[in-house]
Amino acid sequence: MPTPILKIIFTNLVKKPYTNLFPKTPPIPIGDRFRGLPVYDENKCIGCRMCVTVCPTRTIIYIPEKKKVKMWVGRCLVCGLCADVCPTKAITMSKDFLLATSDKYNERLIIEPKQAGSESKPQSSTQ
Ligand code: SF4
Ligand code: SF4
Repeated sequence: MPTPILKIIFTNLVKKPYTNLFPKTPPIPIGDRFRGLPVYDENKCIGCRMCVTVCPTRTIIYIPEKKKVKMWVGRCLVCGLCADVCPTKAITMSKDFLLATSDKYNERLIIEPKQAGSESKPQSSTQ
C-alpha cells in the first residue's frame, strides 16, 4: 500500500501544470490595469522633465536641443510613474509585454522623438 507522500507525488506527476505554457500557447488575457511598454507621443510633450525627475531607473533622458525625451526601455520597471506625472499625457502605458530580447539596444526598446539629434546613452542608476 503506497504511503500518503507517494500518492501525492504520483498524482502530481500526471496533473497538468497550473502555469500557462506560453510561448507554446497564447498568452493568458491580461487585466484592465495591466501596465506594459510605455508609449511616448512627442507631439504632446512640452519638455517639462517631470518624467525624467520621477523615473527611478533613469530610463528617460532629456534632449535639450529638442525639448523632448528619449526612453531606454530596457531599464524600465513599468512602474507607470512617468505616465502618472506627465501633465499632457504624452506618456501612457500600453499592454504590450512581449519585450524579451538579449539586446538592450534593440530598436524596440529605444523610444525617441523623430530626428532626436542625441546619441547619448542612459546614465548609470548607481551614480
Ligand atoms: S514606467 Fe517607471 S521605470 Fe519605466 S520609464 Fe516610466 S517612470 Fe521610468
Ligand atoms: S512629463 Fe510628459 S510633457 Fe513632461 S517631459 Fe515628460 S513626456 Fe514630456
